[in-house]
Amino acid sequence: MAASYEVTATRKRPQDFDRLVGQEFVVSTLENAISENRIAHAYLFSGPRGVGKTSSARLLAKALNCEKGPTAHPCGTCDSCRAIAQGKAVDVIEIDGASNTSVNDIRAIKEEVMYPPQSSRYKIYIIDEVHMLSTSAFNALLKTIEEPPEYIIFIFATTELQKVPATIRSRCQQFRFNLISQDLIISCLRSAAEDLSIEADEDALFWIAKESTGSMRDAYTLFDQVAAFSGNHITLDKIREKLSIAGFSAIAGIIRKTLMKDSAGTIEAISSLFSSGVSADRIIKDSAEFFRTLMLYKAGIKRPDILGSALSDIPDDIAAMLSEEQIEAGLKAVLDLYRDLRYSLSPRFEIELLFLRMSALPDLVTPSSLVRKLEEMKKGVAEGSIVVSEPKARVRIEAPKTETEEKATPAPPEVKDDPEEEEEETPPFQSEEAFSLTMDSLGEIASALLKMGKAASSRFIMSIERIEEKDGAFTLITSKPLAYNGLRNDSKSIEKAVAAVFGENPRIFLRLEENREEEEFSEQMKSLKAFFGGSIIRTKKEEKETKESNVSQYKPVRADEDNGLYPEPDEDD
Ligand SMILES: [Zn+2]
Repeated sequence: MAASYEVTATRKRPQDFDRLVGQEFVVSTLENAISENRIAHAYLFSGPRGVGKTSSARLLAKALNCEKGPTAHPCGTCDSCRAIAQGKAVDVIEIDGASNTSVNDIRAIKEEVMYPPQSSRYKIYIIDEVHMLSTSAFNALLKTIEEPPEYIIFIFATTELQKVPATIRSRCQQFRFNLISQDLIISCLRSAAEDLSIEADEDALFWIAKESTGSMRDAYTLFDQVAAFSGNHITLDKIREKLSIAGFSAIAGIIRKTLMKDSAGTIEAISSLFSSGVSADRIIKDSAEFFRTLMLYKAGIKRPDILGSALSDIPDDIAAMLSEEQIEAGLKAVLDLYRDLRYSLSPRFEIELLFLRMSALPDLVTPSSLVRKLEEMKKGVAEGSIVVSEPKARVRIEAPKTETEEKATPAPPEVKDDPEEEEEETPPFQSEEAFSLTMDSLGEIASALLKMGKAASSRFIMSIERIEEKDGAFTLITSKPLAYNGLRNDSKSIEKAVAAVFGENPRIFLRLEENREEEEFSEQMKSLKAFFGGSIIRTKKEEKETKESNVSQYKPVRADEDNGLYPEPDEDD
């Protein structure tokens, strides 16, 4: 790149109104006013940063002071036009409101205002970020705006209109500037790349435009940054590498693994993102964007500028795998984490947990989807496409129950949430032999899992803290959500491993237990714990009493998490 490289935002600064992009309404209003010679003494330009307010203020100054004007189309060649373009015009005074906020600064302006312009028609004050002025400075300014000398014109610019006092606003002719559309930004970037003879891939320009969220100046600044490391060809890959962004396809890759319940693959993919320098913050932001795009796509939106992604980049397999409600739940989980991230000790752990939990997304059943499913079933039965057969006979441990009772009892409440569940249900305990799944057998199950290549589940099974047995069914209990979710998502392997070790196929339930200390101990005990550290240990006697007095006390953390493959047996039946 040449040594005298000029930043793109400056190089592309419009020198006449026709070149000002994205603000057609402002431009036509200003042009009309000037050509009809309706010139105000105070203008107020408001709108987001980087959308052309300052450029417009300079253009207006040019239009008013052009030797061939005032004209909507300044010549650009006269002394005044050239001086303004170079920022050297003595009669066009630019003041940064952010650094000249005091009343003294404004007093100086008030004194200067008394002297007429040196060489131009008007003496023009452009005050940027005018909302930064102090109240007394505004008050001092007010008198000047009310009765300015004929040759004085103020042009104020602000990003925060609501902070400009109403008394000032009402004395100005106001113009609101809009964000610039993504398409327009892309076409400006394309022309900037052509000027520099740089090739630029469409998806790379798309990314820059999206990142700059409607600000032309931000887009040009980012473009310069990207151009600086891109050589003669700007590509999305180079951007991804140098700016450490996760990107759409990387997030899609992780989510694909997650949905396939490949926990190890998920963690590895997250790890490789971190090691390539992508921050936790960035991963969360890109994930949120991913789910948002998917949600809009499912809703039928096809415009890339709204989707925030090219249509060809949308992973159809993931879109097909998840319902709209499930995608919404995914987005919500990401946004919740984004809110909590700053309180987290380890953002990385949170992200790993988030994605592991997302493996349950396809199992998520919302009330509305349930109603829909029921409607479909009703229709199916009515039309004969669903055939209802006699319930299968089942071997029971405790005898006297009729077929109908049998059908009604084994399903705990959560199972009813998912009609498909019944078909997959493990057959109940088949024998009256003394089969027992104890804490001691966990080791064997773990090694069976390891042999099956299920390293994560093998580790998780060792996190089981207690096993409860009831009517031949076993409830594995853990207080670790990661283990709970991991095991639940790998239910088939657990069943296989248990069958391999014992030659039996018992009913197994899984339960996530809340941290009992936090829940049950008094405030006083908690403050003792906070003071001394360590943990509160219950004596055997206490434990027994608590258990007996309130059996149903330890419910899963969230009932809706428990509509998975291992619902808890209903205590009351
Ligand atoms: Zn001129």
